[in-house]
Amino acid sequence: MSIAHHMRSYMDRASWIRKMFEEGARLKKIHGADKVFDFSLGNPNVPPPPSVKRALLRVIENGVGTLHSYMPNAGLPETREKLAAYLTREHGVPMTADHVIMTCGAAGALNVILKALLDPGDEVVVPAPFFVEYGFYAENHGGTLKTVPTTSDFSLDLEALEAAVGLKTKVVLINSPNNPTGQLYSADALKALGELLRGKSRAVGHPIYLVSDEPYRKIVYTAEKPPSIFQCYENALIATSFSKDLSLPGERIGYAALHPEADDQDAVQGALVLANRILGFVNAPALMQWILPDLLEESVDVALYRAKRDKLYAGLKKAGYECFEPPGAFYLFPKSPLADDVAFVRLLVEEKILAVPGSGFGGPGYFRLAYCVADETIERALPGFAQAMDEARSLR
Ligand code: PLP
Repeated sequence: MSIAHHMRSYMDRASWIRKMFEEGARLKKIHGADKVFDFSLGNPNVPPPPSVKRALLRVIENGVGTLHSYMPNAGLPETREKLAAYLTREHGVPMTADHVIMTCGAAGALNVILKALLDPGDEVVVPAPFFVEYGFYAENHGGTLKTVPTTSDFSLDLEALEAAVGLKTKVVLINSPNNPTGQLYSADALKALGELLRGKSRAVGHPIYLVSDEPYRKIVYTAEKPPSIFQCYENALIATSFSKDLSLPGERIGYAALHPEADDQDAVQGALVLANRILGFVNAPALMQWILPDLLEESVDVALYRAKRDKLYAGLKKAGYECFEPPGAFYLFPKSPLADDVAFVRLLVEEKILAVPGSGFGGPGYFRLAYCVADETIERALPGFAQAMDEARSLR
């Protein structure tokens, strides 16, 4: 066999996203792209704020000779300083540039963090449903993913976490606002999780790190900001990016941030920086780092996503779907009207609607709809959702 055995099995595991992609391409070829309603990808369709273009033009016009140069592996010192000042305000803990490592998106940040923390056999505990790439990321660095159920509204189940975290646990990885559910964890739940991890760390005799993956932090529909994980636990790291809140996913810019009171500061910082280098990222994209200082307080127009959520949610409820109304991110995770979510996603394909089965996210019995699509796509897809529901009812 030409390729590594584990890659062969990874390719099989990743097949849902690939299948939907291929199905979409096939349907678009037959019916035309405008007749296919593609809710399968979390690719933001809301444009970046105008300040992004202004900052890019300014940097290119005034750019110094080192604009495209290599830099320290952690990133541009000026950008990291500005980011640290922003994070100090946002999270209420005193951050310096040393606590921030610029990365190739949140995916880069997660890989850098896991590379820095995991030894072979270490467990990464994750509440399910979860972002499908986590399993691959943990295994990239010798770890194994251990999933823990959430409650009926996809909130943290602290008893289940208490039972799951043990001697082998090195990392608990959470994602709020969540992909695929859109749920946002409360301050009380995060404080209780922090308390739980303090106790567990003492019991197992090593720090258990809490990694918070939060690329959707600014995409929330609540009056209050999401709580800060740094207010809840010290051995904590944030992995995030500007992919969603500035609509820049192709630019691959994000960062990892370490709590200033985490144990073993120097070693963890050093390991993160070295991981960024030896994973082959070397440093995060330069041009993006130059523009970021102007953009830290900016975000896409979240009201546009809110309107899309409201339209799709109302349409699905009217058609008889059971669905949690998500306070954040840009996904709905409705209950599949058939117990077999894969079979139901096939019914949706009959209506030229592309969705991803919940099974692909460790959430069988549900399906995910990414509503970062044109309003018109939502409006025109609603009759198809109603038709698929009728079809499912007739099969039950
Ligand atoms: N984490 C979650 C929960 C995501 O949904 C995504 C992308 O969809 C990522 C991480 C990766 O983000 P990035 O494009 O910034 O690497």
